[in-house]
Amino acid sequence: MKKTYIAPNIERNSAGNMNKYGAKSVVRYQDRIESIPITDLVKEYGSPLIVLSEAQMRKRYRRLLDTMKMHYPQVEMAWSYKTNYLAAVCNVFHQEGARAEVVSRMEYEMARTRGIKGRDIIFNGPGKSPDALRIAIEEEALIHIDHLDELYLIEKLARELDTKAQVAIRVNMDTGISPQWTRFGFNYENGEAYRSIQRLLSGKMMNLRGLHTHIGTFILDANAYYWAAKALLELASRIEKDNGIVLEYIDMGGGFASQNTLHNQYTPGEFASPSFDQYALAIGNAFNESHFVTEHLPKLVLETGRALVDEAGYMISTVLGKKNMPSGERAVILDAGVNTAITAWWYKLKVSPTRSFPGAYQNTIFYGPLCMNIDVIRPALPFPDLQFGDKVLITPVGAYNNTQWMQFIEYRPQIVMITETGQTELIREAESLQDITARERIPEHLRKL
Ligand SMILES: *Cc1c(COP(=O)(O)O)cnc(C)c1O
Repeated sequence: MKKTYIAPNIERNSAGNMNKYGAKSVVRYQDRIESIPITDLVKEYGSPLIVLSEAQMRKRYRRLLDTMKMHYPQVEMAWSYKTNYLAAVCNVFHQEGARAEVVSRMEYEMARTRGIKGRDIIFNGPGKSPDALRIAIEEEALIHIDHLDELYLIEKLARELDTKAQVAIRVNMDTGISPQWTRFGFNYENGEAYRSIQRLLSGKMMNLRGLHTHIGTFILDANAYYWAAKALLELASRIEKDNGIVLEYIDMGGGFASQNTLHNQYTPGEFASPSFDQYALAIGNAFNESHFVTEHLPKLVLETGRALVDEAGYMISTVLGKKNMPSGERAVILDAGVNTAITAWWYKLKVSPTRSFPGAYQNTIFYGPLCMNIDVIRPALPFPDLQFGDKVLITPVGAYNNTQWMQFIEYRPQIVMITETGQTELIREAESLQDITARERIPEHLRKL
C-alpha cells in the first residue's frame, strides 16, 4: 500500500520552553467521549455529530446548587431555555428540579408542552407579545417586566381577565463591568426601578413577587454579582419599608462564564473563568450582609445557562480536505461549520485530534464546509498533519449552538446524548430537504419550468 505523505516542516525547537502559564502547549488527542470511541459514534450516527453528556449536565448542575447552598440555604434554579432548548436537555434540568426560564412565546409553549406548569415558568425578555402575556397571566407564570409599556399592558390585560398578574421587575445597575446592559429592565441608580414599582403597586392589578436582574453573559468578574445583589437587596428593603411588601425572591439571572475562551482573551478559559465557588461567594456575601435577608430569608433564584451545559457538548467533524495557504499556514476543511457551531465566532473553540500523530505541528486554520468567508471554526493553532477522513473533536459547544445555529447551506446534523449509564440516544434527527422546504409555497405561475 502507498504510504501517506507527510510534508516536512521546519520549526524552531522550543522543547521545554516555559511561558508564564507553564510549558509549551501539546496537542493531545482524544479518541473517545466518556469511554465511547469516536469512531463508533460516527459509524452509528454519521458526521458531523453533536454529542451531549447527560452526566456532565447533572454533575455541573448539582455542583453549582451545592456550592451556592454552602453560602446561602434557599436556592432555586430556572433553566434558561435559549441556552439549549432541546427537549432532552431541558428535561435533564427539570428532573433535577429546575423551573423553566423563557424569553418568548415559543419558549413558553415549549415549556408548557413538556409539562411545566405556568407557575413554574419565569417569563423574561424585552419583547413579550400581548398574546403571550395574556396566557402567562392566566396561567400564573412569573412575568419579569422589562419596560413601562409592558407594565401598562400587563395591567390592562389583568383587568380584562379580572385576575392579578404575578410579576417581578427586571433591574439593571452599575456593577463595575462594561458594557453595562442598560437596555433591559429598569435602571437602579436613577430611581427608575423604584418609581416603576410604585406605579405598578398603585395599579393594584399585580402581585409583586420578586426582583430580577441578568447583568450580562460570560461575566469574568465574579464580584459584579456582589454589587448586583447589593442593589436588589437594598431595593427590596426599601419596598418593604415604604410599601409593607415582603418579596419572596431575588433572581440573580445567569451569566456565569463557561470554560470557553473568548477570542480577545489570552489566558485560557479554564484559568480565566471564575469558579462556581467564586460566584457563589460574591452573591452569598451580599445576601449575608443584608438585613432584609436576615429578617425574611428570600429565595435566591439563579438562571444559569451556559456554565451548566457548555462543557457537556462536543462536536465531531470529519476532514474533507486540506490546502496550504499563501501565508504558510495549513488549512483544513471540515464537514461542520459555523452553521452548526456558531459560538466559534465568540470563542477559540478547542479542536483536538482523535488519534495520535507522527510529525511536527504546523499552524492550521479550521474552516467549515460553507461557501462563505465567515466559516471559520478555529483560527490558526499548531496542529499535527491531519489526513482526509480524519475526525476531530470540537469543544465545548453545549451552550447556544443548538439554539442559534443557522439553517444555512447545509442540513443540520444528528444530536445524540450519552446517558448516565453510558448508552447513546438519538435526541434530534438530522434534517432532510423536507424539513427545509415543507412550509414554502410556489406561486402558480412559477411552477412550470
Ligand atoms: C440568556 C439569559 C440567561 C442565561 O444566561 P447565561 O449567560 O447562559 O447563563 C438567564 N437569564 C436571562 C434573562 C437571559 O436572558
